[in-house]
Amino acid sequence: MSILPIVTYNDPVLRKKTTPVEENSEELQTLIDDMFETMYNSQGVGLAAPQIGKLHRVFVMDADGVTEEIQDEPNLGPMAFINPKIVEFTGEKVKMEEGCLSIPEVRDDVKRPANVRISYLDRNFEEQEKTFEGWISRVVQHEFDHLEGVLFLDHLSRFKRRFHKSLLTKIDEGTLETDYPLVPKNVDKQV
Ligand SMILES: [Zn+2]
Repeated sequence: MSILPIVTYNDPVLRKKTTPVEENSEELQTLIDDMFETMYNSQGVGLAAPQIGKLHRVFVMDADGVTEEIQDEPNLGPMAFINPKIVEFTGEKVKMEEGCLSIPEVRDDVKRPANVRISYLDRNFEEQEKTFEGWISRVVQHEFDHLEGVLFLDHLSRFKRRFHKSLLTKIDEGTLETDYPLVPKNVDKQV
């Protein structure tokens, strides 16, 4: 297993649409292992393939480190979602704070539907369909967005985005220090 560097918010790969995975393979299993390793190393609760520069419809999640602290949230363990599809959103829209490993240190409230029902293949390539509620639903919706080229910043008003400008500029320039490896910036200029 390897820890891979994470791409940051302005990388074009985060804006591209992902391609469905056609078959279970050793490469897919390695990708999933690497994604978990990378996510744990950065203390994240979710990671989508585009965040390590791979345009596959895959994301992983393990929120137990957080859900153990929150009442009424289930501990689901590590989960991989292959070719996920949103079946339906239910419940009222709720505001919750989000962050993203590709946008280090930036956190803000995002409004999304309370619950999501999603169908997907698990890492054994078996079909699953599940409803997620509460905080976990939030993680699932955030990661699913990545597969569509959407970032949580896109859900913020222009005013709120401007509020984060100095941090975003630092990320852009590659001068923000993080505890986990990011894809280096300004590669052209280092020659
Ligand atoms: Zn994210």
